[in-house]
Amino acid sequence: MNVDKSWLDEDFDPQARYENLRDIEPEFWKKKKLEQLSKQEWELLCDGCGKCCLNKLEIRGKIKFTNTVCRFLDCRNCLCKIYEHRFEKVSDCRDITLEAVREQPRWLPQTCAYWLLDNGMELPSWHPLVSGKASSVHEAGMSLQNRETVSETGVKNYEDYLVDWPDL
Ligand code: SF4
Ligand code: SF4
Repeated sequence: MNVDKSWLDEDFDPQARYENLRDIEPEFWKKKKLEQLSKQEWELLCDGCGKCCLNKLEIRGKIKFTNTVCRFLDCRNCLCKIYEHRFEKVSDCRDITLEAVREQPRWLPQTCAYWLLDNGMELPSWHPLVSGKASSVHEAGMSLQNRETVSETGVKNYEDYLVDWPDL
């Protein structure tokens, strides 16, 4: 597939998200429910793991993850190459809404910050909001960085790519 480079959001610096949080209530995720978060707080919760961009299959009522990944995910940094245009360009790209977080069967990885908080759990120490470092999700081995993934381009049978990673 030819990618029109004009779509790509190449200037995005993940660390910049955590550099200027003066207007954000400290540890807001401990004080508010997901329903009460501002748009900025909601966006900050995403840990940048990229695991929601893995392709999945629903088998006997359960979501099974594959290690095939959306063609627009850059697995080196786990960033979407077309973030601002993702819903125009990818028909099955999912918006991370409250409804999506609560959808059954669960399709977000069990490390997803939204899912953790909505289920009464805490953010892990490697979450960038806790560590202050966007890279800590990668350093902890919780993102797709350095995993064996396959671009969905050319994949014929997704069942051949099912994985059982413990953090999914
Ligand atoms: S799985 Fe959750 S925390 Fe990870 S990138 Fe997706 S929305 Fe963000
Ligand atoms: S288009 Fe959607 S599914 Fe694909 S990499 Fe971007 S956010 Fe992930």
